[in-house]
Amino acid sequence: MSTISSASRTSVARTTAAASSAPTLPTGTLSKGASGPAVKQLQSALVKLGHMTQAQMNTGPGVFGPQTEASLKKYQAANKLTADGVFGPKTRAEMLKDLTPAKPAPAPKPPSVTAPAAGLERGSTGAGVKQLQSALVKLGHMTQAQMNTGPGVYGPVTEAAVKKFQSQWKLGVDGEYGPKTKAALEKALSGQKPPSSTPTNPTNPPPSTGGVKKPDMKWVPSANTSSRGGADIDAIVLHHTASNNTAGDLSTLTKDGSGVSAHYLIGKDGTIYHLVDDKMAAWHAGVSSLHGDKSPSVNARSLGIEITNDGSGKTPFTEAQYKALEKLVPYLAKTYDIPMKNILGHKDVAPGRKVDPASNFDWGRIRRATDAVI
Ligand SMILES: [Zn+2]
Repeated sequence: MSTISSASRTSVARTTAAASSAPTLPTGTLSKGASGPAVKQLQSALVKLGHMTQAQMNTGPGVFGPQTEASLKKYQAANKLTADGVFGPKTRAEMLKDLTPAKPAPAPKPPSVTAPAAGLERGSTGAGVKQLQSALVKLGHMTQAQMNTGPGVYGPVTEAAVKKFQSQWKLGVDGEYGPKTKAALEKALSGQKPPSSTPTNPTNPPPSTGGVKKPDMKWVPSANTSSRGGADIDAIVLHHTASNNTAGDLSTLTKDGSGVSAHYLIGKDGTIYHLVDDKMAAWHAGVSSLHGDKSPSVNARSLGIEITNDGSGKTPFTEAQYKALEKLVPYLAKTYDIPMKNILGHKDVAPGRKVDPASNFDWGRIRRATDAVI
């Protein structure tokens, strides 16, 4: 919005406000629990703006209760303000604009970036692709220079940018622009944050299951996840990381662009890091099969557990790691009803290609602990 148009609008307001019935707005900050004439002014404004009915106001004029708070939040949300239900300077400024009686028909919006219709993929061309690219540029998944190399052409760069976006929004990462990606793009363009950017522990798995307690774990969300595509969890795959460095493993398994992840990492000191929500697929198994079964993919159906170790077959897995696994594996097996035959190593699902976990890993301990609960 240009300064000229807002200035002219203000002057229009000045000339007409005196003659109009526009409610005056209180100054300062008002929130739930406040009362008095200032609250009444605010309520009148909310009524005038259509976010509160006169009848609602009449139930408690001058009292900032839940109704006033809800109405204020609605107004804030509708005007892209922080919907905190607190009346402060920003909300006041926005309301003042809205209440200007001589406000002309809404000024034409500056050309805005919107999500094109779904149904685009590599090889697509045209205005829709250009629109998609503009959105990806705006969201920082593609540079303007990259877009300029093929505006309106859905090539590898656009596909890579779509994948980055899908990964960030925890969608199936297929590089295609379908309905789900469109819906997420609309949210992103309206300023919403991707779903799991908040570092909160996922609600699953539950704190205990069938009497088996969830072991302590640290939630360190990974960027590398995708949808399970409807597959149920029916396997647990154990790995060694080959690095022998827990901090390095934590970084590799979580950072955007590394292309790898696991649901859990067991540090050398036995700390269980939860990196990928169990509901989602992690990227740990690669080309593999479960007892010869390639579909659904092992990533789609399994939980992956990485164990920090150099993989030499000589460096012992630590006692703390075994203790952690003796809690985690039985707990997951019980929670997801996973049969013992589906608790295996990467080398079992990718024979000939993978050797982890190393030959000195003591499977007996894990199996005995699991056998005791499933
Ligand atoms: Zn592996």
